[in-house]
Amino acid sequence: MLDAAGNGTQAPGVRAVSTPAPQSGFAPWKDKTKPPIVRFENVSKRFGNYTAVDNITLDIYEREFFALLGPSGCGKTTLLRMLAGFEKPTEGRIIVNGKDTTGMAPYERKGVNMMFQSYALFPHMTVERNIGFGLRQEGMAKDEIAARVAEAIAMVDLGRFATRKPHQLSGGQQQRVALARAIAKKPRIMLLDEPLGALDKKLRNHAQFELMRIQESTGTTFVIVTHDQEEAMTVASRIAVMDHGKLVQVSTPGEIYETPQSRYVAEFIGEVNLLEGKVVNIEGGAADIAFAADGTIFKTRSIDGLAKDQQVWLALRPEKVRVSLDKPTDCPNSVAGKVVDIGYLGSITHYHVQLPSGQKMTALRANAAHAVERTVNWDDDVWLSWPSEAGIVLTR
Ligand code: ATP
Repeated sequence: MLDAAGNGTQAPGVRAVSTPAPQSGFAPWKDKTKPPIVRFENVSKRFGNYTAVDNITLDIYEREFFALLGPSGCGKTTLLRMLAGFEKPTEGRIIVNGKDTTGMAPYERKGVNMMFQSYALFPHMTVERNIGFGLRQEGMAKDEIAARVAEAIAMVDLGRFATRKPHQLSGGQQQRVALARAIAKKPRIMLLDEPLGALDKKLRNHAQFELMRIQESTGTTFVIVTHDQEEAMTVASRIAVMDHGKLVQVSTPGEIYETPQSRYVAEFIGEVNLLEGKVVNIEGGAADIAFAADGTIFKTRSIDGLAKDQQVWLALRPEKVRVSLDKPTDCPNSVAGKVVDIGYLGSITHYHVQLPSGQKMTALRANAAHAVERTVNWDDDVWLSWPSEAGIVLTR
């Protein structure tokens, strides 16, 4: 299952935003009466005078596939390790299932299990023995252990390797053993630190869907740490984007992509064009932005709290920008530029266009067979255009 081929049809770098289909309509965070299964309350962690996690308050709900996302060193693993009990918060509380776990050791946290980045497999034990290890430690009956191990092995498709030892397995297979070992304990909350880090891109894409399937079929709450934004977008019900120990946005993948709340989030998730300007008019839910480079007026949707003369950035995803050789007559926003680079990716083409101010913008065009427009080439003078609802105004 995990190593099956397939899933190679999308162009690199242009993964669609996908929330897990079976979970559509699943949004416990919107239900004020629903208690979270995990609550971080003003949690900070300092190592000496370095603050790795900075006053985080966050609720995670039962059956969520929750992703902690951010660049290396932003504090994701530290937050996860505090939830597992391997680090103690310097300040704040961590409530799991209504119980304050802040001072508890990892083994006291019933129902919470962590899969480590390093797998931590026992080299002298077979796959089966490794998977059953935690259950034997718990003193579970032999036949119950055998059933649980068989179930976990089937779930990660390791049947053929059950009697091998870790050194006889590839990195990806070892990762699956670690996953099976964590699953076998049937935790209510599974913590996964970069669980697919050892897999190549194609296997990784496939394994992401397998993880989602396992998470849905077991009904476990998954909290995953990743620095891979595509991975978070693919698997997660919600994503917490972190920066320097702080949460900068917690939203669904779709909201993070379509309505980022800051330039940091917009740039971290996918590709984006940022056009700096000043608000010159706000009227009936719409705003006019004067482009800082040349005063061109961009028409866009307004946002709450926007003020006249405020400095803003108009964020535009490349797929929402149209590139054409002729000036569009049917679009409220357009800028002229010259094509300086073209990236052909099969199903789509990236056009990098330089504006007279020197700023570069990117537009994507799908390579549909029936396209009637003339091909845009390197060095062509072109127009980039977008409708007023395509952009998001950012104030920070
Ligand atoms: P990565 O993706 O690289 O694993 P991360 O976001 O998970 O990064 P953390 O491992 O949480 O980051 O580390 C956050 C910061 O805290 C880093 O600057 C790291 O050097 C520091 N840090 C983590 N553990 C310790 C420790 N035991 N002692 C001192 N500093 C630490």
